Amino acid sequence: MTSSCIFCKIISGSQTARIIYQDEYATAFHDLFPHAPVHILIVPNQHINSVNQLTIDEKSLIGHLILVAQKIAAEEGLTNSGYRLVINTGAHAGQSVHHLHLHLLGGKQMPMMGD
Ligand code: AMP
Repeated sequence: MTSSCIFCKIISGSQTARIIYQDEYATAFHDLFPHAPVHILIVPNQHINSVNQLTIDEKSLIGHLILVAQKIAAEEGLTNSGYRLVINTGAHAGQSVHHLHLHLLGGKQMPMMGD
């Protein structure tokens, strides 16, 4: 837990968010400023700044985050229509919250990468 991290506060319950899933390792909640009809963030409960800080020790944690995303996508009815998982890392990608997170986006046709 990092005291100034907004996602750490959401995970601990000291900041409100629309949490839809939580287990020992991960928390998922609706993005405050959605870019798609479904826009959910899946975050590790452990504070990790970004992909750059990952080590082999987090190998199964990363797999877990993707499986949580798969489960939520199914619950949101996105399995057949499709969805996008995005991890912004660093300044050029526009990472604005420095707590690792997967964006789960779906519910509309999204532009091809690069468009
Ligand atoms: P990124 O730009 O990849 O770092 O994504 C950060 C995301 O966090 C953005 O889509 C924000 O809209 C979202 N966000 C920031 N603060 C909150 C919050 N308090 N609750 C939910 N989502 C948030």
